[in-house]
Amino acid sequence: MKALAVLGSTGSIGTQTLELAEEFPDRFQVVALTAGNNLDLLIEQIRRHAPEVVALANADRVAELRERLGALDAAVRPARLPELLGGNEGLCAAAAWPSADLVVTGIVGCAGLLPTLAAVRAGKDLALANKETLIAAGPVVLPELEKSGARLLPADSEHSAIFQCLQGTPWADTARLSTGTPTPGLRRIQLTASGGAFRDWDPADLAKATVADATSHPNWSMGRKITVDSASLMNKGLEVIEAHYLFGLDYDAIEIVIHPQSIIHSMVELADSSVLAQLGWPDMKLPILYCLSWPERLETPWRRLDLTEVGTLSFRKPDPAKYPCMQLAYAAGRAGGTMPAVMNAANEQAVALFLAEQVHFLDIPRLIERVCDRHRVDLMAAPSLSDVLAVDAWARQAVHEAAAGLSARVPAALPA
Ligand code: NAD
Ligand code: MG
Repeated sequence: MKALAVLGSTGSIGTQTLELAEEFPDRFQVVALTAGNNLDLLIEQIRRHAPEVVALANADRVAELRERLGALDAAVRPARLPELLGGNEGLCAAAAWPSADLVVTGIVGCAGLLPTLAAVRAGKDLALANKETLIAAGPVVLPELEKSGARLLPADSEHSAIFQCLQGTPWADTARLSTGTPTPGLRRIQLTASGGAFRDWDPADLAKATVADATSHPNWSMGRKITVDSASLMNKGLEVIEAHYLFGLDYDAIEIVIHPQSIIHSMVELADSSVLAQLGWPDMKLPILYCLSWPERLETPWRRLDLTEVGTLSFRKPDPAKYPCMQLAYAAGRAGGTMPAVMNAANEQAVALFLAEQVHFLDIPRLIERVCDRHRVDLMAAPSLSDVLAVDAWARQAVHEAAAGLSARVPAALPA
């Protein structure tokens, strides 16, 4: 029985993880949950999984949670109510919960950084969904992994595909997981991208893109922030940096290919030029389950892949002019040090402004570029945790300053 801590349990990754725990009740048990604000769903999860501890990001609502749990009918209340914690300290305690074997990081954005680090420092294995933490703080997280012996198992479907392909090579040495050093014999990574909501849009029409347009993904059902990142291809840019830290390849050896069917989840090219790929229907449950069961594979009754049903698999190079965020991410990754943290925070803030309809979709890359340009002179090559947190906060503020400069023309740019 593997004991799970699920961070961000009320989100897309979190709820799918809990569904897996229910599908395999003799394999997985949930001991810790953390959530942002969705108390209704969290209470339902506490009822179903009876965790030992629950942490709420919003500490102000812990009393309300306690009251509501206490008021539950005895017939539906778990025999033992969980310990309730709040704020960052609470999230970190839940992430490092002693009885947990594996921590699933489903918090969105850099808000997941401190809990992720707490889990790493406690030597827990991690199913890493919360890519923003590794991207912002790779230079901080990787040495901590080495020190504690914690292992990062990639839950992101592309990185899971790469990880699964590498299991079939002679270098499938578990100690090589996520050390950030080059994986021997791995020559090139091809990350596949669905192309997101605007895959078939003419670039000229992007000026008219609304929030509703950007949040409807053709192949995957995910949280709002990552869905916008998919539309801008920033998600793939972030995944390039994630792959760099996980598998140790130079940026020149990590490529993006648009694959509209999302059947091949990524490919690796080995030293002898052989290319391995992992295939499946686009469903995050598979990469999450592989993190939970690794190194084993569990029997599932899930719909089996039938390539004759798919018919055609197609591939094309992404158009850099249509997807400036992709270029910004490569540039930030190559600059290294604190630049990915700045780029990531600027993206989070710009996407939040876009979702609040305060800036236009095309302003997202404009804002990120301005903020990254400003940071160039202050770049720190080997940042500490406090450096990362400081540049993250600075970049968010810098986005607001840059957006104020844009705001005069935003109403005109937004569709009527
Ligand atoms: P989501 O928005 O659906 O869920 C986010 C979760 O984090 C929720 O439980 C929310 O309550 C919690 N949360 C939000 N802000 C918080 C804060 N400040 N402090 C603590 N908790 C907070 O997001 P998601 O789509 O599940 O994505 C989660 C992470 O997984 C992201 O980093 C994303 O890039 C990554 N990811 C998601 C998918 C997917 O299919 N959804 C695929 C690959 C990677
Ligand atoms: Mg992905």
